[in-house]
Amino acid sequence: MIHLKSDKDIAGIEVSNQIIARAFKFIEKIIEPGIETRIIDKEIESFIRSQKARPAFKGLYGFPAASCISVNEVVVHGIPGKFMLKEGDIVGIDIGVEKNDYYGDSARTFKVGDTNPEVEKLCQVTEECLYHGIEQCRDINTVGDISAAIQRHAESNGYGVVRELVGHGVGFKPHEDPQVPNYGLPGKGPKLKAGMVLAIEPMINMGTYKVYVDDDKWTVRTMDHKPSAHFEHSVAILENGVQILSRIE
Ligand code: MG
Ligand code: MG
Repeated sequence: MIHLKSDKDIAGIEVSNQIIARAFKFIEKIIEPGIETRIIDKEIESFIRSQKARPAFKGLYGFPAASCISVNEVVVHGIPGKFMLKEGDIVGIDIGVEKNDYYGDSARTFKVGDTNPEVEKLCQVTEECLYHGIEQCRDINTVGDISAAIQRHAESNGYGVVRELVGHGVGFKPHEDPQVPNYGLPGKGPKLKAGMVLAIEPMINMGTYKVYVDDDKWTVRTMDHKPSAHFEHSVAILENGVQILSRIE
């Protein structure tokens, strides 16, 4: 069931998302070769708590950390740990925040030092996929229009679109209906309506779209071990357009 949000709800969901946007700004400075991913996670958690908010992923379905930190071939759901970033890595960071019972969700892929042009292009195209999806967020369209726009842009660049993991409604809970796949057909799926809040999150692989889950039951990796990128915004569909709630000012 899809829960529509009032203007007041959307304002509350924006507050949570803006804490995430500021957390990204805050950690950008410490992402460099030699840092362990658990240190980044610690900084994220203390920033969120300093805003009188709660890291929504901690404990969600049993996840052990405040953020998901996914390096190179890890698509999503990487568990922060002693893994040390090195020059040329890309690191996807996914953060959920709850404040006043409103949930936000946003992700970005950061480059660690200098990365090679192929990897840089993967990150750029994945972020473009996110904005192609957001452009389709109008109340005359359907979820399939978002999915198709993302898939078209990724595949026209020769990349694989992850099938197993999808975007979702967000706001009253960390994950709500509808599912928002990153592949699909225009005009299909639920109709978009003013008051819907969606987390749109393309996960785009340099090679095959196929993935598998590690023995830790969380870490999702590309089957061919080529890199993967992930960008996510929470957006509200309005009567006359779309508002990106997690936009970084
Ligand atoms: Mg997320
Ligand atoms: Mg999400």
